[in-house]
Amino acid sequence: MIKFLDLHAQYLSIKPDVDAAISRVLADTAFIGGPYVKQFESEFAAWLGAEFCIGVANGTDALEIALEALGLPRGSEVIVPGNSFISSAEAVTRSGLRVVFADVDQSNYTLTAETVGAKLSSRTSAIMAVHLYGHPCDMEALRELANEHGLKIIEDCAQAHGATCQGKMIGTLGEIATFSFYPGKNLGAYGDAGAIVTGDADLAARARMIANHGRVAKYEHEFEGRNSRLDGLQASILSAKLPHLRGWTEKRIELAERYLVELADVPEIVLPKRANWARQVYHLFVIRTQRRKELDQWLKKCGIETGIHYPVALPRLQAYSYTGQANEDLFVNSVDRELLSLPIGEHMSVDDVVEVGAAIKSFFG
Ligand SMILES: *Cc1c(COP(=O)(O)O)cnc(C)c1O
Repeated sequence: MIKFLDLHAQYLSIKPDVDAAISRVLADTAFIGGPYVKQFESEFAAWLGAEFCIGVANGTDALEIALEALGLPRGSEVIVPGNSFISSAEAVTRSGLRVVFADVDQSNYTLTAETVGAKLSSRTSAIMAVHLYGHPCDMEALRELANEHGLKIIEDCAQAHGATCQGKMIGTLGEIATFSFYPGKNLGAYGDAGAIVTGDADLAARARMIANHGRVAKYEHEFEGRNSRLDGLQASILSAKLPHLRGWTEKRIELAERYLVELADVPEIVLPKRANWARQVYHLFVIRTQRRKELDQWLKKCGIETGIHYPVALPRLQAYSYTGQANEDLFVNSVDRELLSLPIGEHMSVDDVVEVGAAIKSFFG
């Protein structure tokens, strides 16, 4: 049995660290705010090489708060990739802005200057750069386009902790960036958690206030915000896990490279292709095949768990029927029938990858 994700095995491998981290928070009853949240915020900022980090309740809140902090004109348009988790788009609408879906690169599934350029209008105010599957967007090209048109860039780094673009850490390349620490992400908490990262002191201060009721001091509120806080337990667990992230990521990359070798000669599948300027951290290893359903069933029969990210492209979801983009001639609108995520993660060995490769090769005969 090869699992898609094995959080239990991961917990056992670092149990003493995590248990001690939890015990400390309980002993100090530092549940909301306090030293553990501060500590993780500064550790994560240092890990990224970013100036400011604000812990929040989850990755979706991080996106909403980041968008609100940017103060984009109400009703203006934000360009969002058509293949992502719904949060990337949902946060735009919930912030009083309009979603416009753009297509993605066919080898790494992220926005490009061309796909974004095709959707620009006089109402465009920002680009939602989702580093999907752990592959960074081409931030140099997006930055050039954004500067030319006066646009802001929000980086959605939920799947890309530690990815780099031309050697530069993602999360430090837009006006503002967001992370999710949902348990299954490359760095995951033991519940919901997220963060906002920026190099802009004003944006950081504004985001922090929005996440904490617009407050300047206890019972003193400059404006209406909301309650979206990273709690002490999650922060402490994240601090215990952060030192392991580099090793876990290297393992993912090693496994992905082995997949690329094992599957190189299977003409019926399309492999992901890392851009030469990118360090991809392989949150997911996604292949395409026209026989997705049968291959998926075959792998399950072989005891290999798989996933689909995502089975329905965002423009084709009922939630976005109002955009009228469901039938647009976009790569994302047809590729969702072909995507298949193979298992990857630090719980797996190279032998597991060879086994998955062999199962795929035997399916295609
Ligand atoms: C997981 C994810 C989010 C949302 O994060 P939550 O912590 O679950 O709210 C946003 N964007 C992308 C691309 C994600 O994968």
